[in-house]
Amino acid sequence: MGMSTSGFVVVRLDALGAEEREHSAQSAIDWLTSERVIAPLAESLWRRPDLNFGSWGPDVEWAKAAAQPLPDAWQSSPGEEVDVSADRDMVSASGNSEDFTCPQCSTAIGSGDPLGKLIEQWMEHGEPVATCVSCGWASPLGDWPSHYPPALVGGPTITFYRWPEFDPDFVARLVTQLGGRCRTFWTHI
Ligand SMILES: [Zn+2]
Repeated sequence: MGMSTSGFVVVRLDALGAEEREHSAQSAIDWLTSERVIAPLAESLWRRPDLNFGSWGPDVEWAKAAAQPLPDAWQSSPGEEVDVSADRDMVSASGNSEDFTCPQCSTAIGSGDPLGKLIEQWMEHGEPVATCVSCGWASPLGDWPSHYPPALVGGPTITFYRWPEFDPDFVARLVTQLGGRCRTFWTHI
């Protein structure tokens, strides 16, 4: 894909079994479809076999999700595909990732080995507590500040491709449907 694509990601971070993740994803889908914000996509060029809850597109009420006023550029052009996965996976802000930084002293977690080891630990054993090398502030990695997280592990994950800015109340309601502890961010792919 040539052009850069933006995606708004909502991911649930607390440790869940497969059945709980599926229940959470289904609950979010049920709500999004009942609000007519998304509808099933008949055909998708982007269909990925690893997306077990599949690909969706904007439905007639898609703009309910958007912050108001809706910018002119979006008036006649709805958001694009929405991917829902109930898998547990690593997610990140990809091209626009920014380091996790300590809220007390702004020291970053190194984006090479230090972060790699923490993510490996999260994938294999559960979410690690990360400690700031400068001041000792410590917190579960998923709570470390970053507007564009360089890596998180969780699921379900919902990604809205090329949608406008989201309405915070809409996002809060979506997070309620997913349940538990969620994190949201924009990604550029
Ligand atoms: Zn610190």
